[in-house]
Amino acid sequence: MNILLLGPPGAGKGTQAKRLEERYGMIQLSTGDMLRAERASGSALGRQVQAIMDAGKLVSDDIMIALIASRIAGLKGKGFILDGFPRTVPQAQALDDMLEKNGIALDRVIELTVDEDALIDRISGRFSCKSCGASYHDRYHQPKQPGRCDICGSTDFVRRPDDTAETVKARLEAYRDQTAPILPYYRAKGLLRSIDGMAEIDAVAQQIETILKSPRG
Ligand code: AMP
Repeated sequence: MNILLLGPPGAGKGTQAKRLEERYGMIQLSTGDMLRAERASGSALGRQVQAIMDAGKLVSDDIMIALIASRIAGLKGKGFILDGFPRTVPQAQALDDMLEKNGIALDRVIELTVDEDALIDRISGRFSCKSCGASYHDRYHQPKQPGRCDICGSTDFVRRPDDTAETVKARLEAYRDQTAPILPYYRAKGLLRSIDGMAEIDAVAQQIETILKSPRG
C-alpha cells in the first residue's frame, strides 16, 4: 500500500506516518526529515536550503524533485507513506511521472483537516526523540516516563528551529497558497479522502486504518 498524507504543518502527518511505519513496516518518506539530515551533515544542499527552511518558505521544486526521485527508485516494492511531498502542483505532476517510471501506483491520498488556530499551539510545544524521531508535545503527549523516549529509551530530545510562532505563520501561508491547490488534483483522480486531524492521535490512526482497509474511490 502506498499512501500520501496531506495537511498543514502541525496536522500530525509525521506522527501518523511513524505509526504506520511501526505497525505495517511501510517506509516513511519525509522530505522535511531528508532536508534536516542534509543540514545536520553540513552538505552543500543542507547549507543551500537552511535559510529558506528557517523562514518557513518552500524549497524549489527542482531540488525537492531530485531529492525524492532517488528514494522512490530505491523502494524495491516496499509500501511507503509520503509525508511533506508533494507540496506544489508541479511536484505532484513530477511524482506521477516518477511513480509511473518505477511501475508504482499511489493507493490513497489522505488529508488531515485541522483548525488553523490550534496549529500554532500544537506546533510551538512539540519536540521529538533525537535518536528515533518519535514525536512528543509539552502539553498533549509527554513521554510516559518523563525525559525518556517511549519507543527507544533515549534521553535526548530536539526541537525544530522552524517551530516558532512567526515561522509557523509563513509555513501556513505556504500551505494555503502553494500546497492546498494540489487537493483538487488528487480529488479529480478519485484518490483523496479527508479525515479529522483534530481528533486524538489514536482516533486519527483509527480513521487512517479504516481508509486503508476500505475499497479505493
Ligand atoms: P516539514 O518537516 O515537512 O514541515 O518540512 C520542513 C521544511 O522543509 C518546510 O517548511 C520547507 O522549507 C522544506 N520542505 C520540506 N518538504 C518540502 C517540499 N516538498 N517542497 C518544498 N519545501 C519543502
